Amino acid sequence: MNTWVLASENQGKLAELNRLLAGRNIQVRSMGEFDLTGAEENGLSFVENALIKARHVAKETGLPALADDSGLAVNALGGAPGIYSARYAGVHGNDQANYIKLLADLETFEDRSAQFVCVLALVRSADDPLPVIAQGLWQGEILPAPQGENGFGYDPVFQPKNETISAAELSPRQKSQVSHRALACAELLRQL
Ligand code: IMP
Repeated sequence: MNTWVLASENQGKLAELNRLLAGRNIQVRSMGEFDLTGAEENGLSFVENALIKARHVAKETGLPALADDSGLAVNALGGAPGIYSARYAGVHGNDQANYIKLLADLETFEDRSAQFVCVLALVRSADDPLPVIAQGLWQGEILPAPQGENGFGYDPVFQPKNETISAAELSPRQKSQVSHRALACAELLRQL
């Protein structure tokens, strides 16, 4: 069994990635199992932040590290919240505050189109010169109010293209067939 440490303490990401990698002889362990503090995410893109996080965790643990840098890009807001999705309302990881701010910011816009972005970066060691990098995009639009209890983050306010329900109303299995993370994961496995 190969062990990758996930450079995140986000339980939603961890659960989805373990579901996506099930049966692949890969176990993804949370960074929370190690006594680590997170790296400063000061990159300007999903790719840069994913690499910063993966290298940091590989350095601290001595194990291969997988980082998932992801977020929601809303067209009417010029791609915001983007790389700042986790801390859009100020406090890191307050999902409800984040989507309430998003709904308020979008109130006057007709165009509610958006996409979830996921960049996965895998490094075998802290100074790996050839990281595996994969990206997935999931198109949809922002609903007027939250719906559903599944998933995490902005799922309750995101209606995927060709669906009539929110991402938080999809079952975990359904989400893992179509999401930005599912697409990035498939691409990562293809490259390995
Ligand atoms: P990161 O930890 O900097 O990559 O921030 C990711 C943030 O993007 C999360 O905290 C969520 O707010 C949002 N996000 C990423 N993926 C998803 C998803 O699958 N569903 C809903 N929100 C997501």
